[in-house]
Amino acid sequence: MKLLLIGPPGSGKGTQGDRLAQRFGLAHIAAGDLLRAEVQARTPIGRAAAAYLDRGDLVPDEVVIELVVPVVIKAVEEGKGYVLDGFPRSVGQAKVARGQVEEAGATPDAVIYLDVSREELVRRILARATIEGRSDDTAEVVRNRLHVFDEATHPLVDYYRDRGLLRVVDANRSEDEVAADILAAVGDLAEG
Ligand code: ADP
Repeated sequence: MKLLLIGPPGSGKGTQGDRLAQRFGLAHIAAGDLLRAEVQARTPIGRAAAAYLDRGDLVPDEVVIELVVPVVIKAVEEGKGYVLDGFPRSVGQAKVARGQVEEAGATPDAVIYLDVSREELVRRILARATIEGRSDDTAEVVRNRLHVFDEATHPLVDYYRDRGLLRVVDANRSEDEVAADILAAVGDLAEG
């Protein structure tokens, strides 16, 4: 099973990605986690990415593609499925990545869109900020991340709907309820 999880910041991509990975034995690949690890390790990619993360802007396409695509291809070559969260984050990224993963048979089977109201997102992110202390969870940066989602990432919803890959899940509810809906939405892919 090869899945993309798309949704705004605070929609639960990380949490639900973990649960899907556990349930189906998939590699959970989170673009944001990969980027933060590079920043921590002060690699060239990390140094190029840090300022974008701090502002809540998208890291340049070539940087994030170079980081994420090989991890996806490796998972598939090792015979694993994947759940990829936080990538692609724009139609441009989707198109370039598609060209790179097609040959490896690593294109996604389905795209789950975690749909959440703006009020619920803001509530969750501010609650999380007090627990995790992520530097990009301040009010101003959160506002920018939501704006970037609307401008750059939300167009992927139509892009994948047009390709027949989109499955929308109402993610305003509890973690368990959302997880159950995701399972129902990918049930056909789990058979066989
Ligand atoms: P969230 O979805 O809550 O914003 P992530 O961990 O997915 O959290 O992303 C955090 C930050 O990492 C983003 O604000 C952005 O700066 C960077 N980032 C993550 N994925 C991408 C991507 N596909 N393209 C560009 N930048 C990305």
